[in-house]
Amino acid sequence: MVVKSESARVVLFLGAPGSGKGTQASWLSASLGIPTLSTGEILRAEAKRNCSESFQLRQLLGTGQLVDDATVCAVVAAWLKRENPRRGFILDGFPRTTAQAQYLDALLDELHLPRPTVLHLDVSTTGILRRLTGRRQCAVCGTVYNLVSKPSLRGSRCQKDGGALTQRDDDSEGVILHRMEQFHRMSAPLLAHYGSSVARIDGDREATALADEILDTVAPGRTRHLAAA
Ligand SMILES: [Zn+2]
Repeated sequence: MVVKSESARVVLFLGAPGSGKGTQASWLSASLGIPTLSTGEILRAEAKRNCSESFQLRQLLGTGQLVDDATVCAVVAAWLKRENPRRGFILDGFPRTTAQAQYLDALLDELHLPRPTVLHLDVSTTGILRRLTGRRQCAVCGTVYNLVSKPSLRGSRCQKDGGALTQRDDDSEGVILHRMEQFHRMSAPLLAHYGSSVARIDGDREATALADEILDTVAPGRTRHLAAA
């Protein structure tokens, strides 16, 4: 019998768009020194290659459709066998379906890695709306501000170059509510699949407070990497 590596950690973030899960995932990756498996990134890189599979993938990604389970699972298996992350890794964008979650469980068993610790970044609709509808971007240099959490020192103008601050179309209230609804529909079966291994994290708090709780949940006793703050 092969003994599973005790220190290895596989972490899955579940959070609605705007929950800050991307930031939290990269901070955790830095704190623990483990890589992030981003299926979106791998698929985009694969699509750029020059072969017939890449051509099909380019067409699929171009239409904004979700890539089918078999393709995504093959990408994940190839990455795990190539990278061989003995100390664990963070999952970004995978699994999205129960079938993908079952595939991942079997794959982790085969590689003697632990099942994922699932972090559910639970944010309220009002919290997300406050955060995202306050987001403003400089029309000149692209710097992102937030009316609430990161205002420009020059009010409605960019503090670097005086450019006008504008709101992105996909930050409008209707679009945000629709994305939240989609997230809840997608995550419900996954939360059911992982059951008691899900840790619910109250996401309506300041990012650094969240990061501390996340690290304490995943690796009790570890201190957050200062460069990450
Ligand atoms: Zn600017």
